[in-house]
Amino acid sequence: QAKHNGKNSLSYFDEKLEKDIQFKLYQENKLRKAIEQKSFVMHYQPQFCMETKNIVGLEALVRWRTEQGTLLYPDSFISLAEELGVISQITLIVLEKVITDIKQWQQSETVLSNIPVAINMSALDFDDKTFIDGVFDYIKKANITPELLKIELTETAIFKDVDYVKQVLSRLQAHSIGIAIDDFGTGYSSFAYLKDLAINTLKIDKSFIEDFIENKTSEAIVQSIIALAHNLNLNVVAEGVETEKEELLLKSMKCDIGQGYQYAKPLNKVQLLNFVLCQSKLINQANERAVNNK
Ligand code: C2E
Ligand code: MG
Ligand code: MG
Ligand code: MG
Repeated sequence: QAKHNGKNSLSYFDEKLEKDIQFKLYQENKLRKAIEQKSFVMHYQPQFCMETKNIVGLEALVRWRTEQGTLLYPDSFISLAEELGVISQITLIVLEKVITDIKQWQQSETVLSNIPVAINMSALDFDDKTFIDGVFDYIKKANITPELLKIELTETAIFKDVDYVKQVLSRLQAHSIGIAIDDFGTGYSSFAYLKDLAINTLKIDKSFIEDFIENKTSEAIVQSIIALAHNLNLNVVAEGVETEKEELLLKSMKCDIGQGYQYAKPLNKVQLLNFVLCQSKLINQANERAVNNK
C-alpha cells in the first residue's frame, strides 16, 4: 500500500521500488528479445595440463551482446533467465553456437581440431524432461565427434532429481559425452552421488584456490578433493588459478588440469585462434632450439 506523505507524491522508498520494478521489466523485455535474436557470444577459456602445459580443454562461457554492443557477463543475466523460465532457451543457443565452433575448428589444422569444449548447464535444464531429449536429438543431428563435447553441472543440478539426473548422465556417458561437476565443494557435498553417477571430472571451486596459499583449511580441502578425485579415477581441474605460486603448489599436489588468468582469460574466437597459433609457434621454436643445441 503506497503511503502518501503530503499531496500525491510517493515516498522515497515507493519511488525506488517503482524504479526497480521498471528496470527489471525493461531488462526482462531486453532479455526475451536477445533470446529471440540469439544475441549471445561465446568466449572460451583454455584449460591446461599441469604437467605438459598443453591445452587439453576449453570451457564455453556465454556473454549477452546488448543492442549497444556491450557484452554482459553471465552473473548479470543467468539468474534473471532462470527466474523467467527461459534459461533452457539460452542453453540451446549456447549448444548450437558451440557445436558450430567445434565443427569449424575440426577443419582448422590447429590444436583446436581435437580439443573438447565444455558447456555449462543450469539446474533448471533438468526440470523439463523433454528438454534433455531435445538436446540429445540436436547432438545426434549435428554429427560431431561426441568426445569433443562436455557438460558441466553443479551439485544443485544433481540434487534436484537424483534418479532422473542419474539416468541422463548414463545416457550421456553411453554417447561418450563427458561430465564435470562444477564448483565442487560449495554444494551439498554429499559423497553418495559420486558412487553411482557417471562423472568424469571434478572442478575445484575457485573460492578454495583464492586463498589456499595462506589458508590451511582451504589447502587441506584442495588436497582432499584432489585425492578424492584420483581415488575415484576422476580428473581434477582447479579453476581460478591466478598466480604462478598457485600453479606450482597445485602441480606439487598432483592436480591434473589448471584453468585461470595465470594461463589465459576467457577469449573470443579470434583471440583464441591467435592464442593457440602463438603457443604452437613458441613450442616449435623451443623444439628447433633443442635440435640445434644437440
Ligand atoms: P563457472 O562455470 O564456474 O565459470 C568460471 C568463471 O570464473 C567464469 O566467469 C570465468 O571467467 C571466471 N574465471 C576464470 N578464470 C578466473 C580466474 O583466474 N580468477 C577469477 N576470479 N575468475 C576466473 P563468467 O564467465 O563470468 O561466468 C560465471 C558463471 O556463469 C559460470 O561459472 C557459470 O556458472 C555461469 N555460466 C557461464 N556461461 C554459462 C552458460 O552458457 N550457461 C549457464 N547456465 N551458465 C553459464
Ligand atoms: Mg563452469
Ligand atoms: Mg566453476
Ligand atoms: Mg561458478
